[in-house]
Amino acid sequence: MSQGVRTEPMGSGRPLSEAYDTALLDLDGVVYAGGRAIAHAVDSLGAARSGGMRLAYVTNNALRTPDAVAGHLSELGIPAGADDVITSAQAVARLIAEQVPAGARVLVVGGEGLRVALRERGLVPVESADDDPAAVVQGYGGPDLPWGRFAEASYAVRRGVPWFASNTDLTIPSGRGIAPGNGAAVEVVRIATGAEPQVAGKPLPPMHRETILRTGAQRPLVVGDRLDTDIEGAFNGGVDSLLVLTGVTDGAQLLAAPPQHRPTYVDADLRGLLTGQPEITREGDGFRCGGWTATAGADRLELTGDGGALDGLRALCAAAWTAAGDGACRLDGEKSLARLGL
Ligand SMILES: [Mg+2]
Repeated sequence: MSQGVRTEPMGSGRPLSEAYDTALLDLDGVVYAGGRAIAHAVDSLGAARSGGMRLAYVTNNALRTPDAVAGHLSELGIPAGADDVITSAQAVARLIAEQVPAGARVLVVGGEGLRVALRERGLVPVESADDDPAAVVQGYGGPDLPWGRFAEASYAVRRGVPWFASNTDLTIPSGRGIAPGNGAAVEVVRIATGAEPQVAGKPLPPMHRETILRTGAQRPLVVGDRLDTDIEGAFNGGVDSLLVLTGVTDGAQLLAAPPQHRPTYVDADLRGLLTGQPEITREGDGFRCGGWTATAGADRLELTGDGGALDGLRALCAAAWTAAGDGACRLDGEKSLARLGL
C-alpha cells in the first residue's frame, strides 16, 4: 500500500500472483469482451490459480446473478463458482438492508441479479410504487426494461422513499457497440425527481467492502481496465492495482491520469499477473525503465532508447505523473506513444 501521491508505476521482484493473495478481477475488458475470452486470459488465470492465488470476479453489472456469471466464465474455460463472483447488486442489497427494517419491500428497477441479491438479504422485491416500498433500487435492466419502470421509481422517490443505485456507469459495452448503462437510467429518474441516489458500485466504498467481506482477502490486488472505476475503486480502498490494456484505457489516458486514477502496476494483459514488474530508476531529469528513458520537456514528453513497449510506457508514466504531481499531466505524449506502437 502506498502513501501520498503515486508518481510512477511500482516494481515487484516477485510475480504479482505470489506477492498478493487474491486478485479482484474486473470482467469486461479484462477477462472477456463481447462474450469472448480476451487473449491470454484463460491460461494466465489458470496458472495464477494453480500457483495459489485466489481469483474473485468483481463486476458493476447488476443484471446477471453470480451463478450466471460463474457459468459464463466456466464456459470460457475459466472455472468459477457463484462464490467467486461479487456484483454491485450484492453491494447495494447490503447497503439497503442496513437502512430499512428487516423483511422490507424494495421497489426494483432492474434485472434478476438485483432481485436475487435483495432476497439474499431477506428483502422483498416489488414492482410498483403502490406496493409501499421502503426503498427504491436501480440496477442495469438490459435492453428490454420498459419505460414504465422509471415512472414507478419516480413516483416513489418523489414521495421521499430512499433511492439506491447499484452503479452509475453511463455506458455498457455490447457486441454491437456502446449502449446506455445503469448510470443513464439513473439520470432519467434524477431528472424526473431532482433527488440523489446512494450508489454502491465501483469506485465507491460499498463495492470494495462487499468484495473484501466475501473474499476475506488479506493482500488483494485489484485488476481492471478502467481508470475511473477499477483503479479509482482500488485507490479509495487503499489497495494496490494492476491496469491491463485490453479494455477501454489507452496510453494517452494513462499518462494524463490524476493521482486517484494511477494504477500501482501496468501491463499489456493478464500475463502480467505471472511476472515481476520492472523497477523505474531516476537518471538526472529522466526516468529509466528497461532500455527506455522518458523525460518531461516544456510542452511534451520525450522518449529515448529502445526495448519493450510496456517498459517505455512505464517510463513515460513516471515522467508524466512526476511532472503533474497531484494534478493531471497536460504534456503531449503522442509522438512518444506512437514510437511504442501504443
Ligand atoms: Mg472493465
